[in-house]
Parts: sequence; structure tokens; C-alpha cells
Amino acid sequence: MDTPITHSQTLKSKPDATALGFGTNFTDHMFNMDYTADKGWHAPRIEPYAPIEMDPATMFLHYGQGVFEGLKAYRTATGKIQLFRPQENIKRLNRSCKRLCIPAVDENMVLDAMKQLISLEKDWVPDAPETSLYIRPTIIAMDPFLGVRASYTYRLFIILSPVGAYYPEGFNPVKIMVTSDYVRAVRGGVGEAKTPGNYAASLLAGEQAHDAGYTQVLWLDGVEQKYLEEVGAMNIFFVIDNEIITPALNGSILPGITRDSVIELARHWNERVSERKISIDELMEAHDAGKLQEGFGAGTAAVISPVGEIKYRDRVITIADNRVGPVAQKYYQAITDIQYGKADDPKSWIVPVS
Ligand SMILES: *Cc1c(COP(=O)(O)O)cnc(C)c1O
Repeated sequence: MDTPITHSQTLKSKPDATALGFGTNFTDHMFNMDYTADKGWHAPRIEPYAPIEMDPATMFLHYGQGVFEGLKAYRTATGKIQLFRPQENIKRLNRSCKRLCIPAVDENMVLDAMKQLISLEKDWVPDAPETSLYIRPTIIAMDPFLGVRASYTYRLFIILSPVGAYYPEGFNPVKIMVTSDYVRAVRGGVGEAKTPGNYAASLLAGEQAHDAGYTQVLWLDGVEQKYLEEVGAMNIFFVIDNEIITPALNGSILPGITRDSVIELARHWNERVSERKISIDELMEAHDAGKLQEGFGAGTAAVISPVGEIKYRDRVITIADNRVGPVAQKYYQAITDIQYGKADDPKSWIVPVS
């Protein structure tokens, strides 16, 4: 299917590929599509990147009924452009929609639209090492109405942003802080949906962690504040006694695609990996017994983010001598090699764009 395109009359100058940050530059065009009760999802179109005009009473602004996704397009050494497991992002978008009472989208249609938009913007996919084009599909409730109910109208848009290397100074461990004062999500809540309110809810704990000299918050479960959930906008892994462990999905953890990729690769390589409940006390005991070998976060932005230090109450523990451990290194290399087409793709995760 061909999406109608309105070409922008004034193209932007592209930022220097070696000096890209994250999420500050946007391409010339965006994809838009609308939903109304009578027409369903309709009017898919690619248009110049532009502000969205909305009524001040737009429901999304007041009640946060919205969902989003985050994935990347990668340029290979031979100049091709490819996506990593994009179907998983679109399936998750629909699961988030269901939780937020937003009508589902046609998954093939959205993937197709994404590919057409990226093809049009192909010159925006940077080619410097470890750079990529970040893709942000978003759906927001559009009814101008000040009452709490699900909206009858929605807008889906996809914007693109060239992003730089996550580790411009090299692959380094981060320090994380367990918060006992706040929780990110509770079972039965919206923690497993990618919905804006989750991030608003995490800001205060994040600021407190920053003030204490830590990069990210390690969240405990919202019920007992005992079990590990995730870190910042990443899932968390530990290596204990040569086993790779990540908290089992329980309804309040965001089911990350990078998380799933680590688990699938570990199984493919016959490594010991388990998804289970793991408490902060078990983690501290493993450390004290000398069995905690590594910790790392996993998410699209950083791929793998090694953890060198954890603060919990009045204790601070160091992991892997605050260096990058072999497991974190191996998975970072393996996943990025597949994403950039440097290694073969044993699980058929790559979807070519051009
Ligand atoms: C997006 C996200 C992740 C990571 O998911 P990926 O699909 O691997 O990018 C983890 N936790 C939270 C809260 C997230 O928003």
C-alpha cells in the first residue's frame, strides 16, 4: 500500500553525524493517521514535520490517555537500512492501547507506514559508528472534552530523530540507587504499558537519585517493596553464580524487547538464564557471598548498560570492580552486531527497509 506523501518545501540541514545527542533533532516529515468511531483508523499520510494543533480541552492533555513506542533504524556498512524486531514494538503498542482503551491499529499497516517514512527520510539515517535513527510512534486521545472516559477520536503519529552513540566516551558502568520512598508501578496498574504517566511518575525519584550522585533508579515492586523490577527505562539483569537472572514479568514490569533478545540469545547459546522473582535482600546476600558477578540494564536506547554500583538504604555495593563484565560485553556486542548487520541473524530479527 502506498501512503500519500505531501513533501516538505523547506528541507532542514542535517546535523553532524558525529555530534548527535538523543532526541533533539527531527527529520523533515512525519506519518499521521486519525481515528473516529465511524471511520475507524483512516487517512494515513506522510506530511511535513509540523506542530499538532489541538484544542486546549484535548483529552490527552488532561487525562494522559496515550501510548508510545521506541525503536531504531540502523545503517549497515554497505549502506542498507534495517529495523530490529519492529513487529514486537507494534504488538506491544497494541497491548498498551488495549490497557489504555485505545482502539488497536493494523500491525502490518503501521509497519509498512514506518518503512515508507524511513525510506523517504533515508538520508537522515546517520552512518557514524553506533548512531541510528530513533523512531517514535505515538497515539493520543483527541476529543475536546473535560470528562473522564475513553476518547472517541485519536491521532497516531510517527516522528524520527537521528541519535548519536549512547556511549561516546566508551562503554562504562553506571551507578544506580534503589528507592524506598517511591514506586514506579503496581500489578494491575499501567506499568507494563508504554504510557506517558509512568515516566512522569518516575521523575521525582530520578531527581533524588541524581542529587545523590546516581544515574538511574532501581525500582522495587509496588506491593512489598522487596522484589527487583527494573531500572530507569530499562529492564535489569544480574549474573549470580554464573546464571543470568532477570525479574519475571509480573504485570508491573515493562516487557522490553532488548530484555527478550538477551533471554533468547542466552537460550540459543545454551547459557543458564532464568526469569524469576529476585529480592533486593537476595541480591545483597549474593554480593556478600561473592556470587554477584555482574549487573546490567537492557533497553533500546543503550542496548546494554553495565551497573558498577548500587546504593540501597545505607549500603553501597560495587559490582564487577566497577568495570564492564564479560557477560554485559558479550550481549552488547552480539545484539549491536546483529542490528548493524555485522553478524548473521540467527533468529531472523532483522527487517530490511532498503
Ligand atoms: C521501553 C522501556 C524498556 C525497554 O524496552 P525495550 O523494548 O528494550 O526498549 C524498559 N522499561 C521501561 C519502563 C521502558 O519504558
